Amino acid sequence: MTSSLATVSYLGATILFILCLGGLSNQETARRGNLFGIVGMAIAVVATILGPQVTAGGLPYILGAMVVGAAIGLYAARVVKMTQMPELVALMHSLVGLAAMLVGYANYIDPAVSANLSPAEKTIHEIEMYVGVLIGAVTFSGSVIAFGKLSGRIGGKPMLLPARHWLNLAGLLLVIWFGYAFVTAHGVAEGMTPLIIMTVVALLFGVHMVMAIGGADMPVVVSMLNSYSGWAAAATGFMLSNDLLIVTGALVGSSGAILSYIMCSAMNRNFISVIAGGFGTDSSAPAAAGAVQPAGEVNPILAAETAELLREARSVIIVPGYGMAVAQAQHTVYEITKVLRERGVDVRFGIHPVAGRMPGHMNVLLAEAKVPYDIVFEMDELNDDFPSTDVSMVIGANDIVNPAAQEDPGSPIAGMPVLEVWKAKTSVVMKRSMASGYAGVDNPLFYKDNNRMLFGDAKKMLDEVLVALKS
Ligand code: NDP
Repeated sequence: MTSSLATVSYLGATILFILCLGGLSNQETARRGNLFGIVGMAIAVVATILGPQVTAGGLPYILGAMVVGAAIGLYAARVVKMTQMPELVALMHSLVGLAAMLVGYANYIDPAVSANLSPAEKTIHEIEMYVGVLIGAVTFSGSVIAFGKLSGRIGGKPMLLPARHWLNLAGLLLVIWFGYAFVTAHGVAEGMTPLIIMTVVALLFGVHMVMAIGGADMPVVVSMLNSYSGWAAAATGFMLSNDLLIVTGALVGSSGAILSYIMCSAMNRNFISVIAGGFGTDSSAPAAAGAVQPAGEVNPILAAETAELLREARSVIIVPGYGMAVAQAQHTVYEITKVLRERGVDVRFGIHPVAGRMPGHMNVLLAEAKVPYDIVFEMDELNDDFPSTDVSMVIGANDIVNPAAQEDPGSPIAGMPVLEVWKAKTSVVMKRSMASGYAGVDNPLFYKDNNRMLFGDAKKMLDEVLVALKS
């Protein structure tokens, strides 16, 4: 393939990636968006393999690596459970970071890369490599820790070292200092030491950054690492002089950054504070005097009684959370919705921006179960309607319906907007026990007079509710 044909293919792939991102912004067009992405990526891969940068001798290695990579990817995608998706995504981000690091080192060691460069070009290329390895290392170690936290291998509690901001600042100064030493080094042997020291500092920084972030703020970290992985890919693009990788990396990097910002606003968090760490911790949020402490008895309810409540209601708002995903209850939820709507009940869904374990988690599940889009609403669109709602039904959600976020300034989730389900005439919470949610905080909702607890696996309970509704 000639270089101009490769460029045209890259241009086509870039346009498809932009269309893909545009499509993914809405459930109704998400499938089409994904398709654009798949076609764009296929074109990009073929154009790269057949492009001028790959020699015939290298082709078997690339094809071999592709077969291995595709087999692992296919296996992972088939066996991963929907609830493990964020962990898988974090793991994949770590691979992008690792790739950027390795490409940086390979570029530096390869004498052919800088053989024909002028001194100025060589300096620019070295800065590209240094920054590429830096972003790659932070992305790699940060993503590995995020994977550990999301999969429960590492506890959700933030690790806060004393003077952690000073440690970060010292790390930054070291990186700049060794960057200067790297660029002014005479030869690879001399430059290797500052490069390795910077890599170690960057790896430690990635670990430190994510370890310091509290459980409730992990959604922001996931999307932030997504953004970092984009910048790491863009840096790789600069190192390899690959325009498509630069553009694609920048698209991922900037869209991830925008998503992180949106999630921070949705959770009433300050972006810089989340990145600096310490949010969602006991130490950053000392319990205030007079804080609302959950207390008292809970009112259990049976599935048949829940069905009765629903049958008599005129308006119902369903709030799904992580537990609905675990129980795979979305199809039964849809069946119940259908029966209720046939009876003239106004049923709507309220989606919190961080419900579940990844951005858009609930929307994906509801779309999979064929719940009509026009009855699925964002939190802000529905929150004022709870006082005029007969029944709010919380299915496996906890943190996102916790009134302590509003009522208890000492709560680790204080200030996070929540769905005000307790304002409905009756709220029903479906979960298996009194256990807390992801943020690990107790929920005063359970003890409210107008709240009922339907204990059990969400799928099993909803099946019973459906049977009772139909009978
Ligand atoms: P939570 O984690 O707060 O609560 C889920 C509840 O579901 C648990 O209390 C659990 O209670 C219940 N549950 C679990 N399994 C089942 C089951 N089989 N049947 C019925 N209930 C079940 O989830 P939310 O969706 O309310 O909130 C999301 C949380 O996750 C937030 O804290 C958010 O910050 C965090 N997060 C979000 C991410 C995102 O991008 N969306 C990423 C990472 C974290 P029990 O054990 O008693 O059944």
